[in-house]
Amino acid sequence: MFKRVLLKLSGEFLAGENGFGISPETTAGLARRIIGALDGTDVELAVVIGGGNLWRGARNGQGMDPATADYIGMLGTVMNAMALQDAMEAAGKPTRIMSAIHMQQVAEPYIRRRAMRHLEKGRVVIFGGGNGAPFFTTDTTSTLRALEIGADVVLMAKNAVDGVYDSDPRKNPDAKKYDQLTHMDVVERRLEVMDATALTLCMDKGLPIVVFDIFEEGNLARLFRGERVGTLIQS
Ligand code: UDP
Repeated sequence: MFKRVLLKLSGEFLAGENGFGISPETTAGLARRIIGALDGTDVELAVVIGGGNLWRGARNGQGMDPATADYIGMLGTVMNAMALQDAMEAAGKPTRIMSAIHMQQVAEPYIRRRAMRHLEKGRVVIFGGGNGAPFFTTDTTSTLRALEIGADVVLMAKNAVDGVYDSDPRKNPDAKKYDQLTHMDVVERRLEVMDATALTLCMDKGLPIVVFDIFEEGNLARLFRGERVGTLIQS
């Protein structure tokens, strides 16, 4: 049974059918799924939300100063955090957004000890603004915040991929799924789990990762209860 978890959500999970922007309906569905899974457990939940549905520095910012392009991406994650907060609170769960970039009208500044206090009080903490530094992704934010708040695990939510495979299961019907791996396996086999910086940090600190399909019914609830779902990566 996990006590405290860090859930990484891609920005794309909030997008509507066209894969871009924020769909209130899609976001509400995701929030209900997460809050429903928490129901009846004592799990403390922190969330890192990406921004890929709005802006990715390297992709959308071509021709721009790369740091500026990344800052735009970080601001996008705060927009997503606000949409997710709205939807989670509509689903009945108190939440707090803590942003690595100060914007106090919409989010608390990130203060580690305060984040932990919110979690102890049963609030879902949504981390916005990435690390507050360019040249990173929200994968690194997930690892960093998970370590800071003493999370037991980073849950890497995927859409329609239920773990780590030896090749892309959407392209190769014979792709083999791994139930368990070490961090070193992931590095050596160049498996797609999270970006290299984030993965190295998990490996150095011995932080377990679970890669799972968040859109498969019941998966998240099973994970919160401590059952095996998807692929577990640990040292
Ligand atoms: N970003 C950044 N520093 C961070 C986190 C994010 O510069 O610590 C920027 C970066 O440009 C990235 C964008 O924010 O492309 C959106 O985040 P990400 O690509 O991780 O979102 P996801 O793919 O998870 O939706």
